[in-house]
Amino acid sequence: MMQAPVTNKLYLSIDNLWKAFGSFLALKDISLDIHEGEFICFLGPSGCGKTTLLRAIAGLDLQTKGTVMQDGKDVSNLPPSERDFGIVFQSYALFPNLTIEKNIAFGLENTGRSKSEIAVRVQELLELVGLPDQGKKYPAQLSGGQQQRIALARAIATKPGLLLLDEPLSALDAKVRVHLRHEIHELQRKLGVTTVMVTHDQEEALAMADRIVVMNHGVIEQIGSPTEVYREPKNLFVADFIGEMNQIESTVTKGGRLSVGEKTFACHEHDFADGTPVVAAVRPEDIIPHEEGYESDDPNRNCIDVLLHEMEFLGSFWRCRLRNERFGKSELIADFSINAVRRLELGVGRTMVIEMPIDRLMAFERPEAS
Ligand code: ATP
Repeated sequence: MMQAPVTNKLYLSIDNLWKAFGSFLALKDISLDIHEGEFICFLGPSGCGKTTLLRAIAGLDLQTKGTVMQDGKDVSNLPPSERDFGIVFQSYALFPNLTIEKNIAFGLENTGRSKSEIAVRVQELLELVGLPDQGKKYPAQLSGGQQQRIALARAIATKPGLLLLDEPLSALDAKVRVHLRHEIHELQRKLGVTTVMVTHDQEEALAMADRIVVMNHGVIEQIGSPTEVYREPKNLFVADFIGEMNQIESTVTKGGRLSVGEKTFACHEHDFADGTPVVAAVRPEDIIPHEEGYESDDPNRNCIDVLLHEMEFLGSFWRCRLRNERFGKSELIADFSINAVRRLELGVGRTMVIEMPIDRLMAFERPEAS
């Protein structure tokens, strides 16, 4: 399929946006640039302000302060009807008493198109979302996934410059969700429509977005490609929110190494001064397994003895819980390949050596105790 590329053209620009509900600040000084054709995901925990930001872009709720520019035009104070977007909500929001055709045609009426032009466009949209024969049915006769495809068809019917998706997949069961995720992604690429999707599902964001905007408590914690936010998280919140992350209390010591008990580890570059208490963090899949007794002369290899306390078979890998008195009561989680487990004859109760590669062991500021 032909894919429309993300261009260098700035399409949506949000500047110093604030939103207050009474004395509560739901958005605090949000600035964000989105390029034409980009697929952006707002990702964060419940209540972090994702939907509020999406609604401010749509004009459904006006911001308290700040500007929204769309395609070179200041739309900050325009009502939704004067902005150029299509929107899909979590609940399908189709009109139950109208046929699927009429639901899709809804936004096309009063646009100067003739009846036959509308009929052609409706059929084209039904085909685009893979439901060419469902036009005469009513929403209740379709499955949740099908209804959401119709909501999508309705949202793009007028060829808006911007597609807004507010948790469009979260009401669907897991299998349908993954399937529709692919379809939405493919459709977005085909149409090249700039898209902003709200989700609290990290896997969805990683799979679909060109860039992810990670939010927390009304602020943006990090903006980056899926690999950037996953592999190079800026802080412990992002590191912990996206994917699994082992965390070890530690202190920065000579040469920037991280001390844990009497042992020190080499780690990824950081700017912390000697003596700073930090959290050392490593992803489960970055831990390398070695056999018991494995020794390396290189202090930068970060090798340590552990007891394999628990193993869980997760289909394509083994999730292992590892203990070492240096970690105190907490355990490290490591994901080992099936081959590695076989080769090293790993089993519960075995001792072994693990290596935490220098570039994958990160240091983060310790969160304030709450
Ligand atoms: P979720 O994933 O649960 O939908 P979210 O990140 O989309 O969360 P928002 O819906 O944007 O969060 O809400 C952000 C904060 O603003 C929440 O604390 C919410 O309670 C508050 N809030 C949202 N709308 C209103 C409103 N109309 N009046 C008062 N508070 C509101």
